[in-house]
Amino acid sequence: MAAPTDSQQTEQTRQKDILFLRAKHIKFFSRCLQILPQSYTSLDTSRLTVCFFALSGLDVLDALDTIEKDRQDIIDWIYSLQVLPDPNNYEETSKQCGFRGSSTIGTAYNPSRDTPSHSHPYDWGHIAMTYTGLACLLILGDDLSRVNKPAIVAGLKALQLQDGSFAATLNGSENDMRFVYCACCISAMLQDWSGIDVEKAVDFIYKSLSYDYGLGQGPDQEGHGGTTFCAIASLVLMGRLESTFSKRQREKIKAWCIKRQHSGFQGRPNKPVDTCYSFWVGATLKLMNGYDFVDFACNRAYILSTQDEMVGGFAKWADYHPDALHAYFGICGLSLMGEPSLLPINPSLNISQRAADHLQRVHDNWKAEVAT
Ligand SMILES: [Zn+2]
Repeated sequence: MAAPTDSQQTEQTRQKDILFLRAKHIKFFSRCLQILPQSYTSLDTSRLTVCFFALSGLDVLDALDTIEKDRQDIIDWIYSLQVLPDPNNYEETSKQCGFRGSSTIGTAYNPSRDTPSHSHPYDWGHIAMTYTGLACLLILGDDLSRVNKPAIVAGLKALQLQDGSFAATLNGSENDMRFVYCACCISAMLQDWSGIDVEKAVDFIYKSLSYDYGLGQGPDQEGHGGTTFCAIASLVLMGRLESTFSKRQREKIKAWCIKRQHSGFQGRPNKPVDTCYSFWVGATLKLMNGYDFVDFACNRAYILSTQDEMVGGFAKWADYHPDALHAYFGICGLSLMGEPSLLPINPSLNISQRAADHLQRVHDNWKAEVAT
């Protein structure tokens, strides 16, 4: 289907009744946790990300009570995806550690903390699965006590390249800004930054600033809303935003973001607006104290025009099929504007503020354990 033009989008936005269908979205995300349509088959190896969109979506909707009876089963399933090191060959096997996206390659169900679970020479963690796996555990209120933190940090360290960027897996992966962001979230969640050479990561981000002040996947790449979020959120998590970009550069980055709003937000100049950028670009503006420049009415009307009134969820465009990713970021885009029935989100970690507060309590407990 061809992308609708700006004037078609505006017309579609005008025609839609602006009612937020909370109950339908709760049903949509609950269904995503049970069974998925055939169109999701290609995501089977990254099932954990779909689980994250559904769980975090339910969390922001303040509806986690709907899955209360499955909570422990989901926690155990996530732990079963943790790739554990072999104590007899720790040095080598810890490099493979992290979370895998699913049991597709035939790994045995093993939610325990200690038993190595390798079943395949290519059974490695994937950095985005490690990030979303930890995020899901926090959303569900888990204390991360079964996470093998040293092994995850060793696995992270093995994924950083000389230029400061990160690959997703030990071999055969792209390396770019998305995975720098995942590395920063993992380090922040585990409160251990020894898996990242921060100076190199900051240098990679600095060099990825494009001529038009968007940030790309890497140096000399086109600025993009998604990667600009990954870059700025990474700097915020590392506490390096203001020491990396000058005030003038930060103002220009903000201006690039603000110019992405038409009705909703687009990801790049001359592209159609798309629901997910109300989060990617909106959250970047939040992190840079620029969110007041957003036209709330237009943004809200656009996001709601992409809501599926029949089955719930959001699509990227109006009258297009909804999917888990756009449903989640539609909810997040509305939460950034303070939609009344939604919980606030923590824009740098991309989880609810409630889950981020739980993380803070987990860290406080770790600190207390060390002290005693
Ligand atoms: Zn999108």
